[in-house]
Amino acid sequence: EALKLDQTSSPTTPTQPKIKSKGLDVPKLWKDGKAKRKPAAAFVVIGHVDHGKSTLMGRLLLDTGAVSQRDIDKYKKQATELGKASFALAWVMDTGSEERERGVTVDIAQHHFSTDKVDFTILDAPGHRDFVPNMIGGASMADLAVLVVDANQLESGMKGQTREHILLAKACGLKRIVVAVNKLDSSSPPWGEATFEQVKDEVTKLLTATGFAAEDIAFVPCSGLNGQNVVTPVPSNGKTGWVASSSRTLLQELERSASDNVAEATIKASLRMQIADVFRGGITNPLSVSGRIATGNVQVGDSVIVQPSGETAAVRGIEASSDGVEWAVASQLCTLHLTDIEPQHLRAGDVLCSTSKPVPVVKSFVVQIQALESILPQGVDVHVGRLHTSGIIAALITTLDAQGELLKKKPRVVKAGQSANVKVVLSDGGAPLEVGDRVVLRANGSTVAAGKVERTGSCR
Ligand code: GDP
Repeated sequence: EALKLDQTSSPTTPTQPKIKSKGLDVPKLWKDGKAKRKPAAAFVVIGHVDHGKSTLMGRLLLDTGAVSQRDIDKYKKQATELGKASFALAWVMDTGSEERERGVTVDIAQHHFSTDKVDFTILDAPGHRDFVPNMIGGASMADLAVLVVDANQLESGMKGQTREHILLAKACGLKRIVVAVNKLDSSSPPWGEATFEQVKDEVTKLLTATGFAAEDIAFVPCSGLNGQNVVTPVPSNGKTGWVASSSRTLLQELERSASDNVAEATIKASLRMQIADVFRGGITNPLSVSGRIATGNVQVGDSVIVQPSGETAAVRGIEASSDGVEWAVASQLCTLHLTDIEPQHLRAGDVLCSTSKPVPVVKSFVVQIQALESILPQGVDVHVGRLHTSGIIAALITTLDAQGELLKKKPRVVKAGQSANVKVVLSDGGAPLEVGDRVVLRANGSTVAAGKVERTGSCR
């Protein structure tokens, strides 16, 4: 406990010289550099426990050279001693690169790997406890989702966790999803095309029912354990012939999903960056925050406002893709090194904003939801990306039909599957929120509704 206090109570050093913003025209630099820039993509990995998520990610990292065979052999030795040799690849995911570098535990681990064409980040919610809140945080920072389905466990794949994860991915605004139909090495018969087609049909039904467009869904038959069709293509003869002729590898499919298509207006908008994790006690950088820039841009020397505390901080350094940079823009995952602020004003879920137009802190809001369970006025956990707080659904305002037209005013209940406008009142002091933000409402550990903020009320 004493150690922990030591780590966390170190205030920012007051003697640091003030850093001045260089006044760069960041939108212009971004636009001019477009041709030179490698696209980046971040994804969350979702799916039922034991369907092979960690193993598949370990495989991606190994076969793209982000981790070495030596590391894997080391894990394999440890895993074999514990009688769990098959988990060697999965162990790579146990400690995020960030955790290794900074020696701290994070809720959303980031792992990086690159190809000639794209820089990738895996956003991983480690551990199965509290997976869903962390997954919501990860999904809010991601460009796409990778859904892992064990081809031999279609039934468990279609219920429970898979179903909820798909709903959450959609609720967090993810449009594109790549489905890895995994463990085909051990299907019967191995690499059975019929098995793959059956999984594909069922998962397609579930995804389209959730609102994913057919053109945004891709399927990849693979084996994470053996590394078949993940990075390395399978032989085009024999039992994998149909895979080679009809499907891309997982890596190729991921590369296709990457783009550099952020609108200029988004880059020029006011800065919004929700804090995913706070890092304290670093020697060179005593106080840092990581997250994804949702809108706007930031450069070294900028002042930012942190909501809800309303405190300002100065940006003394920026890291993106592990490199020190002068500036960063919307859609990038980055770490900002801050100064001139007390650490207690920075928490996961807080939002860094431009000083000219900070996000308001609101006590209540109206959200247009899709109900997953029937809803009455009731207490709920409110999740907005990394922000978790509690509130009550204080009023059911209207139910809406499929076209969004009014069905009924002041309904007594919103039934599962219905759309509705409801008013949510937050319990603790309010939260930094604005129109268009995506909100997930949960109760008793399950997701009851999700939607977009339509109006906000009672600004502080
Ligand atoms: P997670 O809970 O979804 O992260 O799943 P893990 O990656 O921990 O894998 C669960 C189990 O499935 C482990 O015993 C793995 O070795 C095994 N497994 C993972 N991928 C494959 C695969 O492609 N083929 C086979 N046969 N087994 C796999």
